[in-house]
Amino acid sequence: MAQYRGSPLPGVGATNPSQTKSKSNEDNWTKRPPYSICSPEEVGPVKWRGTCQCGQVTYQLSRDRPLKAKFCHCRGCQVMHGAPFQWAAIFHKSDLAFTRGAEGLSFYSSSQATRKYTLPTKVYCSFCRTPIMDEGRNVCLLFPQALESADDDENRTHWREAFEIDCHIFYGQRVLEIPDGKPKWSGLDGQSDLLDDDGQKK
Ligand SMILES: [Zn+2]
Ligand SMILES: [Zn+2]
Repeated sequence: MAQYRGSPLPGVGATNPSQTKSKSNEDNWTKRPPYSICSPEEVGPVKWRGTCQCGQVTYQLSRDRPLKAKFCHCRGCQVMHGAPFQWAAIFHKSDLAFTRGAEGLSFYSSSQATRKYTLPTKVYCSFCRTPIMDEGRNVCLLFPQALESADDDENRTHWREAFEIDCHIFYGQRVLEIPDGKPKWSGLDGQSDLLDDDGQKK
């Protein structure tokens, strides 16, 4: 496997240099979800609220359960999150709306090594640097830890259930074993070997 540089999710991956980027589209990113200002009706019922550590950036989600949730054990996630693995929940961009601080965001595209807004990109609060999401071309990955229900004893069980992972990816690069019986892929899900909890090829 080549040295990891971009997000491993399909549609979020590193840009193929031969691809022509639709530049005008990216120039107008502030005018489309999740950055555009929308009315409460457009956003739909609020299922979850999230915030960065300092509170400058807040957002809400109109979908109860992510399309998928995964633990990503790749080296890129370990380094960029300062954590043993990344807990990522995939949403449509239109499921997400910023309620505060959308103008106070910083970007970093690891595949292009640039802080200019270019997809795929990691998105941070520009003040406290909490990771807000990984934005891909088609979907975004959010981090369930940032949702308010994580702090709330009453909703914590529902929160844990809603964001329970479907699988582990890049388990071949793990720093610890997780004996949860969930499917474990050595690399990308569906495109690599299935491993057991100990990392042995099945
Ligand atoms: Zn912040
Ligand atoms: Zn990763």
